[in-house]
Amino acid sequence: MLIPKFIKRLVQAAGLEPHALRAARLFARLWCFGFARYCPICKSRLRYFRPYKIRLNAQCPVCRSLERHRHLWLLFRSRTDLLDGVPKKMLHVAPEPALARLFSKIRNLDYLSGDLDSRWAMVKLDVTKLQLPDDTFDVIYCSHVLEHVPEDRQAMAELFRVMRPGGWGVLQVPILRETTYEDPGIQSPEERLRAFGQWDHVRVYGKDYRDRLEEVGFSVTVDSIVREMSPSEREYMGLPEAEDVYFCRKPRSHGKS
Ligand SMILES: [Zn+2]
Repeated sequence: MLIPKFIKRLVQAAGLEPHALRAARLFARLWCFGFARYCPICKSRLRYFRPYKIRLNAQCPVCRSLERHRHLWLLFRSRTDLLDGVPKKMLHVAPEPALARLFSKIRNLDYLSGDLDSRWAMVKLDVTKLQLPDDTFDVIYCSHVLEHVPEDRQAMAELFRVMRPGGWGVLQVPILRETTYEDPGIQSPEERLRAFGQWDHVRVYGKDYRDRLEEVGFSVTVDSIVREMSPSEREYMGLPEAEDVYFCRKPRSHGKS
């Protein structure tokens, strides 16, 4: 539904945006109600998922989550200790609103979100220079950020530094090749679109992404729920056909002699 810009600005200026967004989600939940699809993030039963870019069956009309967000939430829920009730500190870099809403409601989480420039983030953060103490977070989630960052190894090292020994994180990037391709000489948006597939990407990662994470100290395991599902289950929840999730752990022994 298209809402004129001046109405959006008025609502923002009056501080009514959270209420307006909640009302819009409620309306979409009723309007799109059906039994053909299910969103595990907002728990809506739906007639359809919307297309997104060139992908069909992609975006939840209620919470606007995409395929990868729903996959990650299923993974967080079933394969991690995120919801075990034990107090944890969590850092969410470049927060996606649908997931940020969920994380911020989990009682045992002391949740912080940050971004260079996003109104959805709680604080301003440069992922290559985190103004945060060492060994702080039990959980870090940073998805589809590093492909935008020229100094990605510096960003990985910073995420490793602020993770608590024994902590874990999910650091996701799109993996589209065997080996990573980057060229710092490619600078203009047009050239980047041609070379990397998106105007604001600075590389295309390959399967050697894991090596970069291990170089900064992470112990990495690759997991996936969608690879274990049937096509009809994936279609029902609008999940990616195949996606590997990079779980990064900081060894407990790190920093101890
Ligand atoms: Zn949803």
